[in-house]
Amino acid sequence: MIVVLAGGTGAAKFLNGLVQVVDREDIYVIGNTGDDAVFFGLHVSPDLDTICYTLANEVNHGTGWGLSNETWNAMATVERYGGDTWFHLGDRDLGTHLYRTARLREGATLSLVTQEIAEAWRIGIDLVPMTDSPVRTYLELLDGTEVAFQDYFVKLRHSVPVTAVSFRGASKAVPTEGILEAIGEAEQILIAPSNPIVSIGPILAIQGIRELLEKNRDKVKAISPIVAGLALKGPADRLLRELGYESSVVGVAGLLADVADKLVIDEQDMALAKSISEMDIKPVVTNTIMSTPELAKNLASVVIDC
Ligand code: GDP
Repeated sequence: MIVVLAGGTGAAKFLNGLVQVVDREDIYVIGNTGDDAVFFGLHVSPDLDTICYTLANEVNHGTGWGLSNETWNAMATVERYGGDTWFHLGDRDLGTHLYRTARLREGATLSLVTQEIAEAWRIGIDLVPMTDSPVRTYLELLDGTEVAFQDYFVKLRHSVPVTAVSFRGASKAVPTEGILEAIGEAEQILIAPSNPIVSIGPILAIQGIRELLEKNRDKVKAISPIVAGLALKGPADRLLRELGYESSVVGVAGLLADVADKLVIDEQDMALAKSISEMDIKPVVTNTIMSTPELAKNLASVVIDC
């Protein structure tokens, strides 16, 4: 079995490559739920849904999130009433949140509902939220106020400097049943090219996960989401700098060296391979830019074989 620690869009692209080189039934994905939020009373799990829609081949390729062939009638009605519409929920997508919320209200766990949703989209892999407990990522801004992840990421368009990140509820949260066994038994554990601070960070903050990865470090390989000093999407490069890390593969290595034995970096960062080896994490150099499913497949194949 191959275990993958995953955020949203970067992870989904990588998983789309991985399913072309590994049997779907051998893939076990631990998804970040620190980005989860409630809008109009509905529980939204953006990272889990991005993975599900991508592997179902139904994702909106323009945005990398949400569903294809989407319409926005419900949002237009909310707008008519003067309600908040900064978090866009398409009509097709709303069905997922309605179903999830109803099942959670009936007492189902998030992991069970996620499994039901994944099965309905026939994605064929195990998709498991990192925990069934509520964990929420908060970002502290320069004036000391704390904002929830979606307020930072979507409402503020991640354009404000951040001074600290916290994962509320993480220290009390236990991993979803089966996760620790999966990590223990896995042949390989992959850290997807996701934001190391706000996508991978929450997973590592759940009780016992970081410690178990440290013990299994020889099986862990990470793929850098930073290429030539920049994030390909989102604020990962700025967050690294703002929180005191180098915005480069060296900064990523600093965050992951305790848990990963290898770091897959892009050819554009070849000159930094030596600095990474000196941090006690083995660099693997390849093309990591997944602009097509074929390139994602090539990357997945290098990662599995390295
Ligand atoms: P989010 O929750 O949707 O922000 O998703 P993730 O945390 O999974 O993904 C965001 C990260 O994915 C960003 O830091 C990007 O730089 C990275 N990313 C996106 N596409 C690629 C790619 O093709 N190659 C690599 N190496 N990283 C990528």
